[in-house]
Amino acid sequence: MVQHHRVIIIGSGPAGYSAAIYAARANLAPVMIAGMEPGGQLMVTTDVENYPGFVDAITGPELMEAMRGQAERFGTLMIDDMVTRVDFSRLESNGGKLLLWADSGDEYSADAVIIATGAQARWLGIESEVRLRGFGVSACATCDGFFFKNKRVAVIGGGNSAVEEAIFLTQFARKVTVVHRRDSFRAEKILQDRLFANPKVEVIWNHRVLEILGTDDPKSVTGLRLAEVASGAEQQIELDGVFVAIGHTPATAVFKDHLPMDADGYLITRADSTATEIAGVFAAGDVKDRVYRQAVTAAGMGCMAALEVGHYLNG
Ligand SMILES: Cc1cc2nc3c(=O)[nH]c(=O)nc-3n(C[C@H](O)[C@H](O)[C@H](O)COP(=O)(O)OP(=O)(O)OC[C@H]3O[C@@H](n4cnc5c(N)ncnc54)[C@H](O)[C@@H]3O)c2cc1C
Repeated sequence: MVQHHRVIIIGSGPAGYSAAIYAARANLAPVMIAGMEPGGQLMVTTDVENYPGFVDAITGPELMEAMRGQAERFGTLMIDDMVTRVDFSRLESNGGKLLLWADSGDEYSADAVIIATGAQARWLGIESEVRLRGFGVSACATCDGFFFKNKRVAVIGGGNSAVEEAIFLTQFARKVTVVHRRDSFRAEKILQDRLFANPKVEVIWNHRVLEILGTDDPKSVTGLRLAEVASGAEQQIELDGVFVAIGHTPATAVFKDHLPMDADGYLITRADSTATEIAGVFAAGDVKDRVYRQAVTAAGMGCMAALEVGHYLNG
């Protein structure tokens, strides 16, 4: 049987939980389908020092646990499931509802849907990267750059995000080495000029990462083992941190052909709004944001989405 709810929120990161808190407090009885990673991206990080309100750092899992508790306290119904299919065509034969199917086989219909499925950083896919993630290996300079004051870091990648992250890191690190597997960057020329002009920056061209070197006790990064792409010749460099900046993948595969998205799969919303082109479907957080990608901006967008859903449902 199809279960009907007024508002379904897909995803349980900061955007989803904030949307749930606001929707629940507006008596919209929201239901959250939490996904494979309840709590979202912050569940895999240690200290979060830039979320307002926590003078001493709070860990990612603690912050997300608190958000979940707050959403539940106001009456959000949590469902541990994953949305695998949607139909937003609002056919009259379906009563004009938005339709969702979950991995468990359950079927849902809703008057409004908030999509907060986030994005995933792309990683190199090597074992040492997994082992040292959160202990000197990061995919977010804005989040973790501060921890590398006067240290040596590497940025892996050659697109806009890699060059931007490298420039950002020069504010903290004493040396920033950019490792790129080609002989030129894809980043905008103006960013490249800024990077090359910075005396703290060194670029190692035509090399790929074989291994992130580190210790286990305490867990920390000590360097990189690189191979020249053409010859395979190896070299090692000493470092304190590694930032992988090879892009993000928004979790939007399930919405393909149902919602407008840009070439990289980010959902498109109206200017200054979380509303998508489909009436009653809203998007918040990293799933629609390729620029800021922070917990606090995702939470802000979740709040906006819930307020917009309220206006939408109340005509
Ligand atoms: C290692 C790391 C450290 C970070 N540190 C910081 C920091 O210190 N400060 C900061 O502000 N930001 C930090 N960030 C960034 C921050 O985590 C993200 O900006 C934020 O989590 C985005 O929130 P979101 O709600 O948009 O999505 P996410 O947190 O990505 O959550 C997405 C949710 O959607 C769910 N989902 C996905 N697909 C489906 C589906 N089909 N059906 C149902 N559910 C689905 C997932 O299970 C997940 O619960 C960090 C990120 C990483 C990876």
